[in-house]
Amino acid sequence: MFGEYTPLMKPMLIARRMERGTAIIDDELGLQKLCPSCHEFWPQDTLFWSVSSREADGLQCHCKACQDERRSERTVKDNERRNAA
Ligand SMILES: [Zn+2]
Repeated sequence: MFGEYTPLMKPMLIARRMERGTAIIDDELGLQKLCPSCHEFWPQDTLFWSVSSREADGLQCHCKACQDERRSERTVKDNERRNAA
């Protein structure tokens, strides 16, 4: 892969997420984060998540796939609206 990275996380944040079950550490893949949208764990890096400086862990709370889905849903709705008008 090229250019992917994991934004630095405070150890306390990781510990808290693991307690809550929204993060796991996989033997092979390392730290993984739960997407509340698709309920899947994805590796905690920029390949699967978009960067967000507003989030505590530096990544968006929804995975890229879910973000794309939302974006295309919105586009479909916009087109419907345009066609109706
Ligand atoms: Zn997702």
